[in-house]
Amino acid sequence: MTHWKKILQNSLNSPAELTRYFDFDNTALEATCASFPMRINPYFLSLIQSVHDPLWKQAVPDPLELEDTVCIADPLAEESLSPVPNIVHKYPDRVLFLVASECSMYCRFCTRKRMVGTSTMRITEDSIEKGITYIRRTKTIREVLLSGGDPLLLSDNKLDSILSRLHGIPHLEIIRIGSRVPCTLPMRITKELVTILKKYHPLYINTHFNHPQELSEEAAEACSLLANAGIPLGCQTVLLKGINDNAKTLKKLFLGLLRMRVKPYYLFQGDLTKGTNHFRTHSSCGINIMRQLIGSVSGMAIPTLALDAPGGKGKIPLTPQYIISNGQDLTFKNYCGELCTYPENGDPI
Ligand SMILES: *Cc1c(COP(=O)(O)O)cnc(C)c1O
Ligand code: SF4
Repeated sequence: MTHWKKILQNSLNSPAELTRYFDFDNTALEATCASFPMRINPYFLSLIQSVHDPLWKQAVPDPLELEDTVCIADPLAEESLSPVPNIVHKYPDRVLFLVASECSMYCRFCTRKRMVGTSTMRITEDSIEKGITYIRRTKTIREVLLSGGDPLLLSDNKLDSILSRLHGIPHLEIIRIGSRVPCTLPMRITKELVTILKKYHPLYINTHFNHPQELSEEAAEACSLLANAGIPLGCQTVLLKGINDNAKTLKKLFLGLLRMRVKPYYLFQGDLTKGTNHFRTHSSCGINIMRQLIGSVSGMAIPTLALDAPGGKGKIPLTPQYIISNGQDLTFKNYCGELCTYPENGDPI
């Protein structure tokens, strides 16, 4: 098997290179790459079947990215919630810690597309040490989420060093890694990597699959290596217009993930990130999809549909409305639309 670094080195970085594989007009696409980088590695390229494909839309630049006049660069106010560079401290008990600036693919809908894969994202040994020091000094932090960029693109040694320093912090109970690698470069999940990761339990990985076409044998093998090392796997899917914004596609994705021992965790309503407006759906789209899925498929396959509120206000669950009234009886509709009641007992709290 070709080494993952070699695969990454052979990535396509411009639409012009892509014309060797697909018949399309790349002229209008080149300018987009000047603002937002493109990277499609040969593995992900092999999953793309056509220029109309849901995987194509995730990976290939679109002139609409530059025409976005609605969205803003940093909708989650990550920069103002940052006590030290590359730490985002929004919730009392957990922090986001950006430890890598690169990804194995640059997703066109990325929330951090203002910086991921560009020189504005500066991560150094010094910024990492300062981040670790902040976590060590802030005793309310129970959990750290490693993100970026993709933490699993760091070398084994670098990752080992970060994880071991974090693991040594007494009040830090859990390490969570956010990584798209199991989906976009599954050969990065090597036995050597897994041997490192499993030293730092309780360690969770939330990966990121958006479409059933991404559930390849290689991806299943990567998830299996991780799960066999006792790492609980979750998935953070983004709801994307024209890619996965229907119940049939998401049902297939979520059930497929469960078979790969990955628990669907969040389904994200699109963020207001500049250059991604064309991917955003109306909030009713996701809520209707959830209504079709809840009850009709295993609860294990159901993620929380969540909106990350603009301005760094936190994640808000978007749930279909089941409750009709809550007087003396609680009246609600079930998943089939039947009216049901539940007699209350006691005063409201
Ligand atoms: C999403 C997010 C988290 C994690 O939230 P969970 O609901 O625990 O998954 C933590 N910090 C920041 C800044 C986030 O955006
Ligand atoms: S892998 Fe994640 S961080 Fe990287 S480009 Fe895709 S969405 Fe953004």
